[in-house]
Formats: sequence, structure tokens, C-alpha cells
Amino acid sequence: MTFQSFGGTCEVTGSQHILSVNGKNILLDCGLFQGKRAESLERNSVFQYDPSSINAVILSHAHIDHSGNIPGLVRHGFRGPVYCTSATSDLCRVMLYDSAYLQERDIEYVNKKRVRRGESPLQPLYDVVDVTESLVHFLGINYHYSVSIAPGVHITFYDAGHILGSAMTVFDIEEHGRQYRVCYTGDLGRRGMPILRDPEILSDIDILILESTYGGTIHDPINSMKESLLKVIDRTVQREGKIIIPSFSVGRTQEIVYLLHELCTEGRLPILPIYIDSPLAVNTTEVFRMHPECFDDETLTKLHNHDDPFGFNRIIYVRSVEQSKSLNNLKQSAVIIAASGMCEGGRIVHHLANNIENPNNTILIVGYQAQHTLGRRLVEKAKQVSIFGELYEVNAEVVVLNSFSAHAGQDELLQFVTSLDKQRLKTILLVHGEEEHATMLQTKLFQLGYERVQIPRKGENIEIH
Ligand SMILES: [Zn+2]
Ligand SMILES: [Zn+2]
Repeated sequence: MTFQSFGGTCEVTGSQHILSVNGKNILLDCGLFQGKRAESLERNSVFQYDPSSINAVILSHAHIDHSGNIPGLVRHGFRGPVYCTSATSDLCRVMLYDSAYLQERDIEYVNKKRVRRGESPLQPLYDVVDVTESLVHFLGINYHYSVSIAPGVHITFYDAGHILGSAMTVFDIEEHGRQYRVCYTGDLGRRGMPILRDPEILSDIDILILESTYGGTIHDPINSMKESLLKVIDRTVQREGKIIIPSFSVGRTQEIVYLLHELCTEGRLPILPIYIDSPLAVNTTEVFRMHPECFDDETLTKLHNHDDPFGFNRIIYVRSVEQSKSLNNLKQSAVIIAASGMCEGGRIVHHLANNIENPNNTILIVGYQAQHTLGRRLVEKAKQVSIFGELYEVNAEVVVLNSFSAHAGQDELLQFVTSLDKQRLKTILLVHGEEEHATMLQTKLFQLGYERVQIPRKGENIEIH
């Protein structure tokens, strides 16, 4: 059995790992790399392996850095099944079309420049037709059902508590008369997140492929989320400013709505409109409503009491471009939540351009920001940023709330590992983390007595046993 990573190791985005067992190649996630435009185009359009040699894909969850290149994989010859939970499959139906739309817009922008330079135009990574073709391959499987996916390989999904439908995959493998249990965590969530169930506790694992996004960071406690959010809103309202929140359309947006709803019910939320300016968020919220099997007890109770956890009278869902543009003329305080979560595209970029120079406003960062993204420059307290090729002064207050992270922090990752049977756990591979974070987690694990803890290099072929 071998493990080879082609993205999402020593970095966070673009997860693509191949587990080869009994002569079959199983691809763990097929995500888009997100970073500088030219590098992203290059990395996402050229696969470092032959897509037709892949027998099956295991998709941990719907985030684009895990699912976003499945249409590309199909375009380049992949014909096998994509196994994921039913909620992930439904989310991908919405998100991959949106991704194709963004690819097409993005390449239009690139091609305009290329044509001016006398260069030939490029094709988008994939288009809506590729998405339709790729969706035929999705097979939704519920948590805890064991399914045979290749000779000697069964998989079972367990709740990862990261976003709706997110799964850890346990592989029960028999190879050359030996049996192994391999776990691929995908992105691991946190206990006590709103809406979602907690990550499940596993026990007998031989080989663990673990994410390490925050391998070097301990987050603020989850229960501080609501209070921190309220403080930011209160002080921005006092300045009569707006609160601009870049947010992934799936996951974070619904969590924020949920918390704002609670604050409103408790009578603590100042009176102000809340705009969810994202057609994708509107659509993904509909998918949330279809999957109560993924909710925690608190959310289920709300649902059973006919209380809508995803909407209340102050929330205004914005679909049309005209309505989105009209938000520029708003004079009163408001919360505006828009995608993309890393400020690299979508309506949030327009809202930033409009609001970033006003010191009364707040830019509230609630999610992971990859290197070389506009969001990352804001986190790093840049004084000036370039938006649509123009320089803007960052006068608005920039607040980063770590308690909102959908990823386990260092302490939570260690807790997850130490809850596994230590005698049995022989190998830990750390993926999905910038080198600094992966290394800090590796050091901690060594200190706890785990001997084989590796950080795979891109393309390195690792024998696992
Ligand atoms: Zn994720
Ligand atoms: Zn991820």
C-alpha cells in the first residue's frame, strides 16, 4: 500500500492524494489549488497523474479546495465513482456549477489580457457541461454504512463535524493477507460548533492521514463566538459603520446566521439589516434544510419546534446583481456577508472596494485565509491592498475572530489522536497544513511518544504498513 500526495501537503488548498492498494488507485479528494492566479491556473489545469488511472474518488466534503477539480478530472478521462455522503453530493451539485461559472469568468479576464499581448486564448479549467458529466459519477452514502469500493477495500464514513456532510473515511483493507485500518480525516471540525454534530471519536486505527491546518495554533473557545460577534457589531454600530464579512457560502454563513438569530431572540442584537449577498449561499442554505440527518440535537429541537435555524426577519438574502450593487448606497449600519471566503473573487471584492477606506467600517475575518490571497493580506494587517488593480488604503478596522474556525486547533487535533488506541496507531501522515503548522504538530506528537509521524513531500511515494 502506498500513499502519494499531489496537492494539499505542506499547504492547505488543492488536496489530491492517491492511496494505492491491491493494484487500485483511490484518489482522496480532488480539490482546486487557490493562490496566485498564474500558479493556480497552471496547477489546476495539469494533473500530475493520469486521471484515467484512478479507480475511485473518496470526497471528504464539498469545499472547493477538496471537490473543485472533480469536473477537471472527468474532463481528463476519469470514469469511476466518487464516493461521498449524500449531503456532500447535494452541496456539490450547487457548488461545482458555481465554480464552473467562476472559472469561465476568470478565464475571460485572463484572455482579455492575453489577446492584448498577442497570445492565444486559454480554455477554462472546466465548464458547466463538464460539471453535469461529473455529477453522474457521484454516489451518496450515509454515515456508518460500510461499502466495498475495490478488491479488499471497504470504506465507512464518520462525521468530521467540519461542514454539512463532511466525513472522515475509515478504510478496512486486506492486502497480501494482512489487515489494516486507515483513516483519512479530511478537514476535522471542532466540538460544540453550531448546527453540526461533533466530530466522531474513533478507536482502532493503524494509519492516520490527518489534517494539520492549525497544527500550531490553539483557537479561542467556541462558546466565545457569539459574544465576540456581538462586541464587533455593537462597536461598529456605534460608529455608524458597516460590518463586512467575507465568508464561504457553505458552513460559515449558516453558522453566523444561526448565532445572529440567537442574539436577536435574546433581544441583544442592535436593530440593523443583515444581507447575505450570495446566490450560492441562498442555494446552499436550501441544501442545509434538506439534510437534518447532519444536525446536532439543539438544531433539531429548533426545527421540531417550527423555528427556522437559517433565517429570521432581519435576514435579507440577495440574489440579483442590481440588489447587490444597491447595497453600495446604504447609509445606515448593516451586516453584509458575501463570498468568496478568501476575498479572491465574488461579490465580497466589490464590498471591500467600497468600504475598506472608511474607518467607521469593520472587515470581520472569520475563516482560513490562504497565502497570497487578499484575505491573507488583510489578516497580516497590510496598510494598503490592491483590489481590481487599484490601491486602496485599509482604514476600516480589521478583526480576526479565531473562535469561528471550522478546523480543529492544535489541542483538538492532539485530543483526536490521543483518543485512538496508541498501541495500534503505527503511522501518522500530516497533510493539509502549511509546513510551519505541520511541523509544530509533528513535534508535539513526537513529544507524546508517537514515533512515525511524517509530513509527505509533494509527489513522494510513501510505503505505508
Ligand atoms: Zn474544508
Ligand atoms: Zn480544506
